Amino acid sequence: MKINLSIVESFIEAHRPDRIDVDHIAKHFGSVGAYLEHVCRRESGRRYVEIAAIDSVTGHPIIFDLEDINMKPKKTMCCNDCGSDNIEWRVWADENNKVSRTCEDRFIFCNDCEENKTWTNKTN
Ligand SMILES: [Zn+2]
Repeated sequence: MKINLSIVESFIEAHRPDRIDVDHIAKHFGSVGAYLEHVCRRESGRRYVEIAAIDSVTGHPIIFDLEDINMKPKKTMCCNDCGSDNIEWRVWADENNKVSRTCEDRFIFCNDCEENKTWTNKTN
């Protein structure tokens, strides 16, 4: 099954710019979508791709569900206080809002608590 273009786009955007070489992938696999089909992990009828912490813009691993109609990467972290995954990190970005690196600390802003909190891994 063909991978949705929005998933491909968010997969690229979820990488630190210097940790993904789209031209290189296109040369070897034809396209990023074809690459994802090649490397994905199949689990109970769904396909997943994980971005390692070192490659990810958040500095933490990101898991993509390639079948997710919402086309959002699966969240693995949540607010340590209320358990919500509606959390944000402070990042460094250039003048075009291109994220260059993150603070990579434990402090987050929880949109549900509306306060600075720390994150923890989701349990489910
Ligand atoms: Zn919270």
